[in-house]
Amino acid sequence: MTGIELPSVTRFRNFLKIRTEHPNPAYHECAEFLVNQAKDIGLEYNVVEPVKDKPVVILKLPGTDSSLKSVMLSCHVDVVPVFEEFWTYPPFAAERVPTGDGDFRIYARGAQDMKITGSMYLEAIRNIIASGQKLKRDLYCVFAPDEEIGGIEGVKVFVETEEFRKINAGFDLDEGLLGIDDRYVFIYAERTTTQVIFTAHGNTGHGSQFIEGTAIEKLLPVINSVMERREQNKQQFMSLDADTRLLKSGDVTSINLTGLSGGKQANVVPATYSVTFDIRVSPSDDLDKFKNWLRELALTNQVEIEFLSNECRTITNIDRSDKFIDTFMNSLQRINVNPIPMICPGATDARHVRTKGVPAFGFCPVNNHPILAHVHDEHVFESGYLKGIDIYTTLIADLANVEE
Ligand SMILES: [Zn+2]
Repeated sequence: MTGIELPSVTRFRNFLKIRTEHPNPAYHECAEFLVNQAKDIGLEYNVVEPVKDKPVVILKLPGTDSSLKSVMLSCHVDVVPVFEEFWTYPPFAAERVPTGDGDFRIYARGAQDMKITGSMYLEAIRNIIASGQKLKRDLYCVFAPDEEIGGIEGVKVFVETEEFRKINAGFDLDEGLLGIDDRYVFIYAERTTTQVIFTAHGNTGHGSQFIEGTAIEKLLPVINSVMERREQNKQQFMSLDADTRLLKSGDVTSINLTGLSGGKQANVVPATYSVTFDIRVSPSDDLDKFKNWLRELALTNQVEIEFLSNECRTITNIDRSDKFIDTFMNSLQRINVNPIPMICPGATDARHVRTKGVPAFGFCPVNNHPILAHVHDEHVFESGYLKGIDIYTTLIADLANVEE
């Protein structure tokens, strides 16, 4: 690697310089950048706004048979906010810093999560076009807003639109995790966010007396039961060896008490008390059963229960009779990339796509890298980015050439 900057690196850095951080992401500027990329590469483009000022940019490379199901490559363009004072380099300057051994680090918010992936898609498509090959199926890149705030006004509404239906996707590639050692991972499922509030009402009175049937008395057994469950799950998780723990964190349901409220004054027994839990139910637990257990707990203790979200299960079964999934595996194996299946501990936009019956895997073809999403000094190695482009070039062409 030399000090001369490749055009693919410059384009990645230009994408990183667009300030798409919440709470005021520069979505229109970003859409303009992507449309200019499309014009430069020679792709068809369409910008839609299912929600005003939240553009979804759709780029298309038509295949030789547009009647077939297409391949969709998804990327969210928004990034999480920064605490600039903790950064060694300005988070939106996309500085390219020599490592001393011939490589470079590129520092920016979004370098990992997930503008690198969107950039790699576009560079892979450039390679495919430059090679002169014609793909069988239509290939789409979909750049969406708002993933970092749940995708409610992003992919969640986009999948309900006519534009999404017209994509006629047979398979979706989306956000994945970087491999921390020489292995790669791919995500086929996610835990289900199940946030819940229990509220108890009870007798009130002077703080100097033994009041019967107080709100907190009703709530304590609920808290104890949920925290007991948390302890069991924690033990289950901690019993895994450190190596497995990294890959299996999505296999265990996580529970955290994230809010307790009630009580206005120290000498008054509160009439109402509530507790909030953030629970991420793993696909290894039955979601309905788990929610019924929470409901049962509320009922027996005479407290109210309210679920803050109503997310459903999203799993793409690793079923090799699906020709796209089989090709995903074979294509990567051919170039000695054998990603390990993983349940994502968090949530990505792929869950919205899966609800439409489209199989979706999260895959980032970058390994030997610390995971720095959402942290200060987020960066990637330039060598990893360039290698990832090559992996995608093979994978994307193979997926778009899947035989009927
Ligand atoms: Zn992300």
